[in-house]
Amino acid sequence: MSAGTAMKQIGDGVWASLWEPGGWGQANTGLVVDPGSVSMVIDTVWDVPRAREIADETARLTANAPVTEAVNTHSDGDHWWGNDTLPSGVRITTSSASLHAMKEETAPAGVNAFAALGSRIGWVPGPLGAMGSYMNRVRGGAQFPGKSPRLPDHTFDVTEKITVGSRDVQLRYLGPAHTVGDLIAHVPDAGIVFTGDLLFIGSTPILWHGPLGNWLGALDHLLSLDAEAYVPGHGPLCGTAEIRALREYWIWVEESGRQHFDAGVESTPASRNMMQSKEFERFSTWDCAERLVLTMSTLYRLWEGKPAEPPTLARRARAFADAGTFLREFESR
Ligand SMILES: [Zn+2]
Repeated sequence: MSAGTAMKQIGDGVWASLWEPGGWGQANTGLVVDPGSVSMVIDTVWDVPRAREIADETARLTANAPVTEAVNTHSDGDHWWGNDTLPSGVRITTSSASLHAMKEETAPAGVNAFAALGSRIGWVPGPLGAMGSYMNRVRGGAQFPGKSPRLPDHTFDVTEKITVGSRDVQLRYLGPAHTVGDLIAHVPDAGIVFTGDLLFIGSTPILWHGPLGNWLGALDHLLSLDAEAYVPGHGPLCGTAEIRALREYWIWVEESGRQHFDAGVESTPASRNMMQSKEFERFSTWDCAERLVLTMSTLYRLWEGKPAEPPTLARRARAFADAGTFLREFESR
């Protein structure tokens, strides 16, 4: 399942492993090298065999510039559960909010047990089976680490400059949006930004935390950087046109979703209506379209006046049950 881990050079001393097509758990990672000096890794994937392949390739690329710094862009397991494949002396940085969430989230073994249960009960009719089959889809063929991976040991609140030899990498916290701790890593001398899951390209984004306004603000910030290239959390390298398309998606979801909420339509039927609308057509080629159901479950909470907060396993399970039910209906049509 790990075909195509090859690190691709995307700028002067900057590399990325792009995991196509960027579906569930298929996260991108990055590498910034100052030749003859030191290097930085950005994110580690949750599938252990792939994380090891990336680590091996990184070791080859950094033979004369060992990795001393790493960054985790947020707390979702697909961006940091491979941390044990980093060289042991590496300092790992994330936002304070992200570290807090990493400590609170269910450990890999728990998620693994949940997914294994899902694969066994996926055939059961009704919401329980729908949840199980969807959870199994989320894990895909990934092999999660057996123990909880190494946590970051350095945090910052809003901005942080990390020196990688003679190069600077600018970190900026732009959450809470996709998750509570979302940060970006900007490499100004190469004109490249690693955006974590503030960008999903060719793949439908998920609002797990919110508020949505913060995500729109984050997209505006990314546009203002006017980089040569952006490395999304999932999907291919992109430019500003793709960021604008994502912005349009969120504006459409916010407006159309809110109309359904105000009309008293439940969130899953509302998602179905929205995906059958003319306005949806321009987004219909994006992978995992049913993730709209997950986003709508978060938006409905917020519109009901509940606070933006990290999704508990119970909340994710309910959202997965809704998405699984939606897919069963959709696929049986
Ligand atoms: Zn992700």
